[in-house]
Amino acid sequence: MKIKNNNILQIIVITGFFFVLQQAIASNVNASNNDIIISDELTKLEVTEYLHIFVDEDNSILYSDLPHIDDQFQSLVDLDVHGTIGNATYWLKLDLLHNEQSNKDILIEIQKPHLSSISFYSEQSNQIVLENTVGMDYPFQERPISHRNFTFPITLTAESNHTFYFQIQTNSFFQSPIVIWDHITFSEDNYKNQTLYGIYYGVMIAMALYNLFLFIALREKMYLFYVLFVFGFTMMQLVWDGFAFQWIWGDFPWWAQRANSFFIIWTSLFSLLFAKYFLHLKTQSPILNKILTIFISIFSISLLLPILFPIALSTQISTVIAALSLVMVVTIALKMRSKSREGIFFFTAWSVLLFCVFLNLLAAFHLVPLTLVTLEAPKIGALLEVFILSLGLADKIKRITVEKNREKRLRDIHSIFQNELQHITSIREYKGIVNRGSKALLNVTNYNNAIYIEKQDENWNIVFGENLVDKSKNIHIPKQYLYNPIQSDHLDITWLQYNEKKQFFLTLPLELESKVGLFILYKDQKELIPDDELKVIKQFVEQVSVCLKTQNSIEELDKSAQYDYLTGLYNRKYFEKYSNEIIVSMSNKKEAISLLIIDIDHFKVVNDTYGHQVGDDVIQYISRILKDVCTDLGIVGRFGGEEFIMVIPHISLRSVNQLCDKIHDNLMERSFTFNDGMFIPVTVSIGAVTSKECTLELTQLIKIADDALYEAKENGRNQTVFINNWQNASNNNDAV
Ligand code: GH3
Ligand code: MG
Ligand code: MG
Repeated sequence: MKIKNNNILQIIVITGFFFVLQQAIASNVNASNNDIIISDELTKLEVTEYLHIFVDEDNSILYSDLPHIDDQFQSLVDLDVHGTIGNATYWLKLDLLHNEQSNKDILIEIQKPHLSSISFYSEQSNQIVLENTVGMDYPFQERPISHRNFTFPITLTAESNHTFYFQIQTNSFFQSPIVIWDHITFSEDNYKNQTLYGIYYGVMIAMALYNLFLFIALREKMYLFYVLFVFGFTMMQLVWDGFAFQWIWGDFPWWAQRANSFFIIWTSLFSLLFAKYFLHLKTQSPILNKILTIFISIFSISLLLPILFPIALSTQISTVIAALSLVMVVTIALKMRSKSREGIFFFTAWSVLLFCVFLNLLAAFHLVPLTLVTLEAPKIGALLEVFILSLGLADKIKRITVEKNREKRLRDIHSIFQNELQHITSIREYKGIVNRGSKALLNVTNYNNAIYIEKQDENWNIVFGENLVDKSKNIHIPKQYLYNPIQSDHLDITWLQYNEKKQFFLTLPLELESKVGLFILYKDQKELIPDDELKVIKQFVEQVSVCLKTQNSIEELDKSAQYDYLTGLYNRKYFEKYSNEIIVSMSNKKEAISLLIIDIDHFKVVNDTYGHQVGDDVIQYISRILKDVCTDLGIVGRFGGEEFIMVIPHISLRSVNQLCDKIHDNLMERSFTFNDGMFIPVTVSIGAVTSKECTLELTQLIKIADDALYEAKENGRNQTVFINNWQNASNNNDAV
């Protein structure tokens, strides 16, 4: 057989598909019936194609029968039994002619380490003599040469013919590539091969160990399955190469016979488990995942087959399992190749392996040159495959680390916001909520600046970050920013103080009852916040908006409790509370304070003549005038029906006089009209008092002012009675 392919079995198992092709390979050899001439110069000679074979199907032939059945031997090439599996005994006959002067020591090597039993016979003087019996059924140490392949040392005597027989039994596929060596070449070749195998297995073990450490560190199943896959793959190769028997279980032939199918099933199982977790099939392709799960269950149970079933049967079943797993892997690789980064790695890795197996097959057919590379292509492919998958896993760690960091960051953000919200819900001031909320947003997002603005009736009010806004400019926010959070550098910022540099913005709108709120965060470098983080930020902003709405209603409620519904002035209750606070603060400073009570003259007449509605309008008209005159000098309230009250701190006597005059003047100038021009003359009387160092209480001031008002009424109305020395108020000392 010309094919120097030591890995036929590997190919069958790895590819499954190529089983049929393998048969073809076996037939693709040249026949020759000539004796093999062994010269002194012989270093290495492949003799498979010169062998003759007799297949003893019922195992009835004894070696002593061999001379009698010589005519039943056929050329191995003609019979073509390579790759078959069965219980037969295969008898091989090798004829050598040594026509040199001296004896020659040679080695005969059968390069298939998986055969169960090989008895090696030599024919001496028409006698068949048993030289050795070796094979997987016998302990390794019984071999004449300690080598992974079955190797027999022979001395060829000078100028003579030699006939040798091999009696072979196997539980696996029958194969018998035989090579004749001289001792030195055999050692040299062995040395070279050991080095290459050393590198191969070294890399495989390193890859498995590296990923084992990753598994220990990351606790991700896919790393464990990768390690178990590579382990199985390596063990499978060690079995095929004969190293497993040589180094590991040479004393346990029972297991050695079963290890082959066991590790084929093992590797198939973990190749699928790895694919399942590496490619996240559960989410990425639920249908494939289901099919795969069924296969995985079957394969898991099948691990027991080598122990329970006859060896030949379990070998056949394991080949089917390998083929099935390969079909699955190829299907998955094709389906997932463009779905994710893992998919690309997976597809590439298996494509490389299959390509290399193909290359090896092409070499077997002499379609490409048979070199060390093409000969060892399946091993090179396996190495590349395992390496590319390992790269895929390394690539994944990066992403897993990023993901874990992301998760941690999200948790951190959550707890920061949770903390902040606890504070915010306890704040009883609208602006305070906005301030805390803005600062929390700045803290979480790493933005440098924040403003919060609210739009009511087409106008934007700045609630937070006033110092960042150029007040001479109008705030302009395009509509699209008012619905969802947006990260952009397109926002028009001419109304911001920092408009000279390009800014990057995060806008977070809030839905409030009668207005829209907008947080605007900005900084000078572009840095997008990932979506999941933005979602948490959005939730926080929503909760802030709930707090703002609640606070708003509380403040509205407070306000309605402060104001008089008709005039919008402070009601009496609130006015008294407020003016008491002013009086207390003034008395500490020993400053003057004035109090005025204003009563509409003959108001009953207005009511009686024009009706209550017009009376109300007059009350509103007076309150407007009082508000205008008072400005922010002091506070005005509705004291009762058509009476008003005013408290003015820090005011000189003169100014109070002027203020009272201003009230009378205004009533004259801005006369009350209704029904398109009907004019009603309205006047008021004012009782006023000034406490110089603010030593009186509110009730005392009111009492004095009330007395002064009474006096004003008595004096004819439409005038002010002003008392600035209360000690003598009863004497009307200083009335105006
Ligand atoms: P004067 O003060 O000049 O002595 O005469 P007057 O007519 O204004 O007398 P008084 O101050 O006692 O009258 C108060 C009237 O104001 C009685 C009441 O009918 C009327 N009034 C009180 N509250 C309201 C109100 O809210 N709306 C209207 N339309 N009238 C009110
Ligand atoms: Mg009155
Ligand atoms: Mg009155």
